Amino acid sequence: MLDFLGNLKRTQYCGHLRAKDAGHDAIVMGWVAKRRDLGNLLFLDVRDRSGIVQVVFNKETDATAHAKAEQVRSEYVVAVEGKVVLRQKPNPEIGTGEVEIIASKLHILNNAKTPPFPIEEEVNAAEETRLRYRYLDMRRPKLHKNIVLRHKIVLEIRKVMDEMGFVEVETPMLTRSTPEGARDYLVPSRVHHGQFYALPQSPQIFKQILMIGGLDRYFQIVKCFRDEDLRADRQPEFTQLDLEMSFPRQEDIFGVIENVMVRACGVAGVTVSGPFPHMLYKDAVRKYGSDKPDLRFGMELHEVTDCFSDEAKQKLQIEGSIFAFTAPGASNYSRKQLDELTDKAKSAGARGAYFVKLAPEGTTSTVEKLIGADNLKKLTEACSAKPRDLVVAVSARQQIKGTEAAALVAGQLRLYLGDALGQIDRSQWKFLWITGFPLFEWSESDKQWVSAQHPFTGIVEEDIDKLETAPWDVRSKGYDIVLNGYELGSGSIRIHRQDIQERLFKALGLTEQQLRSRFGFFIDALTYGTPPHGGIALGVDRIAMLLSGEKSLREVIAFPKTTAAQDLMADSPSLVDQVQLDQLGIAIKADAKKAAE
Ligand code: ASP
Repeated sequence: MLDFLGNLKRTQYCGHLRAKDAGHDAIVMGWVAKRRDLGNLLFLDVRDRSGIVQVVFNKETDATAHAKAEQVRSEYVVAVEGKVVLRQKPNPEIGTGEVEIIASKLHILNNAKTPPFPIEEEVNAAEETRLRYRYLDMRRPKLHKNIVLRHKIVLEIRKVMDEMGFVEVETPMLTRSTPEGARDYLVPSRVHHGQFYALPQSPQIFKQILMIGGLDRYFQIVKCFRDEDLRADRQPEFTQLDLEMSFPRQEDIFGVIENVMVRACGVAGVTVSGPFPHMLYKDAVRKYGSDKPDLRFGMELHEVTDCFSDEAKQKLQIEGSIFAFTAPGASNYSRKQLDELTDKAKSAGARGAYFVKLAPEGTTSTVEKLIGADNLKKLTEACSAKPRDLVVAVSARQQIKGTEAAALVAGQLRLYLGDALGQIDRSQWKFLWITGFPLFEWSESDKQWVSAQHPFTGIVEEDIDKLETAPWDVRSKGYDIVLNGYELGSGSIRIHRQDIQERLFKALGLTEQQLRSRFGFFIDALTYGTPPHGGIALGVDRIAMLLSGEKSLREVIAFPKTTAAQDLMADSPSLVDQVQLDQLGIAIKADAKKAAE
C-alpha cells in the first residue's frame, strides 16, 4: 500500500544535512538510492537534488518503520521522519558523511520499476539508453550538476546584460528563412496551404530591425534551429546569447562580451580577465591551421614551401604551399603510426604528408632523397625542431583561391598530435578574438562564392569595390570569439545601407526577383533611417559544456537530440495522423512513407 503525501512537509534537503543538525528532527523526501539489510539494522541511502543522506531503521526501537523499509526497492519514492545523529564512523566520501537519520517513520509515496541502468555518478549504459530514459539519467548527480550550472550561467548572463542596459526582446519562432548557411526547419501553415514558416536559424534580421526600431541595445537567450549534419558539438536546436547594439565600435561589442564571459566563467569558478587577445584570420590559419585555434599549446605551423625544389614538388605532385610543424618527442613514432598520420592527413584533404624524425641515432626522413640534406636542415630549422622531435609537413590536394588549404590540413594534425602527445594544458582558459575574415568562401557544392558568415555582415570600406571583381579579396567586418579551440560565437558590424546590402545580395547571385521576394521587407526597412549597428551571438550550450568540463553538448542539455536528430525519449520526429496531414494540405510521397514505417 502506498502512502499519501498528505500534509507532510519536508524540513531539509537530504544533501544539506551536516553535523550542526545533529540532535534535530528532520523530514526528508526523495528516492531510494541504495538499500543494505543487515538484519536488525536496515540502511537506506535517500537521494534528492542536493545529494544523499543515510537513513537507519532499527528493528528493536522502531519495528514498524523497519518492517516497512524492508519493502522498498531502488528508486522507490519515500519520505522519512526521524532524528539526525552524528555517525559513529563518518564517511568523508559524501557531503552528509558526518551524520545519519535514525528513522521513526517511513512513508512510501511511490514504487518504481527496476531501472534499466543503475543510477550512479558514472554509468556504463549506452548513451541511447540514457537518452531514452532521460528522467532516470537526470537523477545522476553529474547531469544534475550540469543542468544547475547551466541555469546559473544563464542567470548571470541575464544579470550582466541588464546591468549594461540591454533589453531582452523575444523574436518569433514561426517566421521566414534567415540565411545562416544551414537548411531550415519548416512548419506547414494550416491556414495557407502550400506555405511554410521557417523556424529561425537565428534572430538575425529581427535584431537588426530592432535597431532600426530604436531599441539601441537588444539581447535574447534564444533557441535557434539549423538542419545540419550533427556532431558532438552541434544540435539541431540550440541556444544562443544573441545581442545587437546601435552605433558600436568593434571594441564596444568585444567589451560587452568580455564582461559577459568573465562573469559567466566566474559562476563556474573559473577566473579569466579581459581584454582577450586578437588575431587576424589569416594569421590564425597560417599559424594554427584553423579559424578557431586552440592556444593552450604551441606546435605552431610554418610555411616550408621553399624547402621543396620545383623538381621535388613535381615528383610529389604538389601544386600549392606546404606547411609543417614539430611534434615534440615523437621521433620514435613507428612506421605504422606515421602511416596512420598519413591516412588522417589524406582524409583531411592532403595530397601527401612528409616526415622528418630527429631520432637520437640520426635524422631520417621520407623526403630526404627528394629535397636533399640542406633543404631538410632548412625544414627542421624553420620548425625549430629539437632532437627527439618529429617534423610533420603536408601539402593539400586542392587549391582554392584565398585559402591556405595545406595549413588547414596541418592544423588538424596539430590538434590530433597535440592531444596524443599530452601537449594540451587543460587547466587553461584561452579566449581569443579572430578578426579580418574574408567576406566570402568558395562553396564546392554550389560552385560559387557564398557568404562566409551571413549576408548582413559588414564589408571593410576599401574592399567594397572588389565585390564583383575579386570576391576572394574582400574582407568582412566579422569577428569570432574562440575558447580553447571552440568557436563560442560570431558576429559583425553590419551593412546598414540599403545600396550596399542590395549590391552584396547581387554579388551572391540573387536575382532582383529573388531579392525582393526573400528580403524585400528588410531592404525596405533599411531605407527608413537605419543606424550603424552590430552584434554577436554566443552558443550558450557550448559555454555550458566547456565550463562543465564536458565533451558533448548532450551532457548540458536536458533533452538533447541524437546525431540522427532524434529525441529518443519523446520518440520524435514521428508520423502524424492522416487528419492532420489533410488539414495541412500535405500528402506524403509513397517512398517516404515506406522509409518511415
Ligand atoms: N546571427 C549570427 C549567428 O547566429 C550572429 C550574429 O551575426 O550576430 O551566428
